[in-house]
Amino acid sequence: MRWYHLKTEEVEQKLGVNPKQGMTLQEADNRRKRFGANVLEDEKHTSLWLVFLKQFQDFMVLILLAATLVSGLLGEYIDAIAIMVIVLINGLIGFFQEQKAEKSLAKLKELSAPLAHVKREGQWMKIPSKEVVAGDIIKISSGDRVPADIRLSKVSSLEMEESALTGESLPVAKHALPLQQEHLEAQDQKNMVFMGTLASRGSGEGIVVGTGMNTAMGQIASLLVKTDHMATPLEKKLAELGKLLIIIALLLTLFVVLVGVYQGHPLYQMFLAGVSLAVAAIPEGLPAIVTVALSLGVQRMIKRKAIVRKLSAVETLGSASVICSDKTGTMTENQMTVKEIYTPSAAFSVTGEGYDTKGSFFQGGQEIVPDNLKAMLLYGALCNHASLEQKKGRWLVDGDPTEGAILVAARKAGITTAETNQFKIIKEIPFDSDRKRMTVLVEDKNKNRFAITKGAPDVLLSRTTFLVDHERRAMKANDQKQIEQAINRMAGNALRTIAIGIKAVPSGAVPDDFFLEKDLTFLGITGMIDPPRKEVKTAIAECRSAGIKTVMITGDHSITAQAIAKDLNLMPKDGQVLEGHQLSNMTEEQLSNMIEDVYVFARVTPEHKLKIVKAFQRKGHIVAMTGDGVNDAPAIKASDIGISMGNSGTDVAKEASSLVLLDDNFATIKSAIKEGRNIYENIRKFIRYLLASNVGEILVMLFAMLLALPLPLIPVQILWVNLVTDGLPAMALGLDQAEQDVMKRKPRSPKEGIFSRGLGFKIVSRGLMIGLVTLAAFVTAYQGDPDQLRYAQTVAFTTLVMAQLIHVFDCRSEKSVFSRNPFQNLYLVAAVISSVLLLLVVLYFEPLQEVFHTTDLQFKDWTFILALAAIPTVLFGFTKK
Ligand code: ATP
Repeated sequence: MRWYHLKTEEVEQKLGVNPKQGMTLQEADNRRKRFGANVLEDEKHTSLWLVFLKQFQDFMVLILLAATLVSGLLGEYIDAIAIMVIVLINGLIGFFQEQKAEKSLAKLKELSAPLAHVKREGQWMKIPSKEVVAGDIIKISSGDRVPADIRLSKVSSLEMEESALTGESLPVAKHALPLQQEHLEAQDQKNMVFMGTLASRGSGEGIVVGTGMNTAMGQIASLLVKTDHMATPLEKKLAELGKLLIIIALLLTLFVVLVGVYQGHPLYQMFLAGVSLAVAAIPEGLPAIVTVALSLGVQRMIKRKAIVRKLSAVETLGSASVICSDKTGTMTENQMTVKEIYTPSAAFSVTGEGYDTKGSFFQGGQEIVPDNLKAMLLYGALCNHASLEQKKGRWLVDGDPTEGAILVAARKAGITTAETNQFKIIKEIPFDSDRKRMTVLVEDKNKNRFAITKGAPDVLLSRTTFLVDHERRAMKANDQKQIEQAINRMAGNALRTIAIGIKAVPSGAVPDDFFLEKDLTFLGITGMIDPPRKEVKTAIAECRSAGIKTVMITGDHSITAQAIAKDLNLMPKDGQVLEGHQLSNMTEEQLSNMIEDVYVFARVTPEHKLKIVKAFQRKGHIVAMTGDGVNDAPAIKASDIGISMGNSGTDVAKEASSLVLLDDNFATIKSAIKEGRNIYENIRKFIRYLLASNVGEILVMLFAMLLALPLPLIPVQILWVNLVTDGLPAMALGLDQAEQDVMKRKPRSPKEGIFSRGLGFKIVSRGLMIGLVTLAAFVTAYQGDPDQLRYAQTVAFTTLVMAQLIHVFDCRSEKSVFSRNPFQNLYLVAAVISSVLLLLVVLYFEPLQEVFHTTDLQFKDWTFILALAAIPTVLFGFTKK
């Protein structure tokens, strides 16, 4: 269908939609059922069977299976079956872990899926893009990723970046007129926008004509590259480490086997023991547990309203040393209320709270709404994209809160939509943070045309030659001075200021942008309050004690910014404020030389943000940078942790970011950093636990062989330890609570290795002790008497298991086991209890005694075993090393 040929009315008719009402919910539902969801089809999923089988492809596991088969053939049925069952359970656990990781990654993807702005049942609403159907009326604004193929019906300076589809990276200007040509390629269909492309400027409205695979993007979907889960730096490091550990484990095992054979143990027996040991000692599950720990942490972050888009961000978060945060909406409520209005003839105070339209204007204590004030507010309401609506008795703003506040003030002055509707918008130059202003060309009912510009007062003043006090007249130097004083006074009271100016235009003319915005007539300034969010002050203080500097970045006036920074206690006494124009005149190097002293960047444009990120990075900082607009994307990308806003952010900013704040709140960044630090610490905890356990297992075997003793542990016992003791408790460590001082430590250096901060020593020392106490238990029980072997092996096995289950509590702290309440992590308590119960079953349940070669233990055995098993943990609890 060549939609670009048709007039929009024809498109609407063909698709059966009333553009004023949009689709009904019922009809939208029907169409979605009939034509399917608006998604590009994924390529086939790997079958579950393959994922399951993959768990057994590990080389050592294969050898173990082969060895077991041999022992089965040699008549050791029970052993063979037991080993097979354990390997199978191990595989199942790996399988479920992988599934869980996969599922939570998919859930993440869903959460950060884009929304579309559609009209349904006469109301504008945001719905998940996949629910869009053909016939939907849809709005596109700068920064949006287009959810479907759309025939435009209205545009306002709309420019699209279509490189995803056409390869062309320069923006393409769009219009809404029908095109005559017979056949046009996508890049020439100027009245269409396509799924997956980006609005880089302006806005537009249109009708959805194609969804899902039935779009231009759908036709090439099979060519799109799939983005896989990229391994995070830690996962990569662990994969490397894993390889090294395999070699070490294999060498040690080989050594154990050789020594054993040399000491006269039968080759076959040593081989099976060796392979079991190798399987147990190789931490093959580590990467999967790390992924699970990361993604579980990510789910905890979602509860705190932070969505991680890239798993690697979880690690980087823990290293963040600077947070560069937008002021408006992130540190402040973004609930604007006009409190003061300045006009050259008088200043007014405005009463009323929030968006409630009750309120009045006072001049010197007297309630008054003079004509020039009313006119200025009418113009403010015309140069405006927001809308005001009453829902359940409450007034709400749809759109930019700054503009909403002006609408509310206009309402207070008695201006209604009936009045604003009498004007026609002929042209619009949209607001963006670089220009700091917005202009519309309007026509009244008498066909008189004029332009209205509203924007940052200093920007407007530089384009103003006239003003209205009692009448319109030329602006003089003294006027300029007075206005500047008024701006500074408002800003000093933490008010955000917006000036409004107009310019007459000959009727019928549509002059160029430059003309419209020069020689303006100044009408006045609105000063609005945007109170700081309550929780931000404590969040900034917490970050400071965590060694993280907070920096405020804003397009607002520097005096407003400073007033708010003071409220938030963000800046030390000697802290500096830097303005956009100063930044522009500095090289990156000059900036980085002074940047440590700067706490507020005011009057900046998004372009400056990139320079700020780079200057901090030059100083070795790990930088978190927030942003919401299209122009923020480069800085978000360049930062170490790009953060975007879930509510107010554009799709472009979200896609560039690795963290999305669902509530746009600075305090959420702090929570995410805390969680990020905790996840990393938890990963360290279970690495420490697993490796120390493995060291213990290998050493007890090695020492026994060197001392010409019999095997202290038989293969099934070793595999059982690997499955039960190393499995659940390690997972539970991944869910551990943060240590109390986690936000009192300095940020972790990103160069730091896994074993740094004493972790290597802890692993080796605890592992060695676990090995030694197990050996001591074995030797004491064995006493050189072959009849005692089974009993001694049971004692050694139980000692090893208990030593590990006690040691797991030591792993919860970087300091000492005594510094934490062991019952705090209930998952861990439950995991340890279930491991102990499983141990008791293996020890006392007769059929399993046969399988695991165990015997009943008496009370005195238990006191002896527990005393020995506690030694490694208690001993090191006192040394605090
Ligand atoms: P932040 O970077 O913290 O979000 P900000 O929101 O103040 O700061 P911008 O949105 O870039 O920064 O706004 C810069 C300036 O432009 C504001 O101080 C204000 O004077 C003006 N301004 C903001 N919004 C509008 C708007 N919708 N129309 C006209 N001018 C605006």
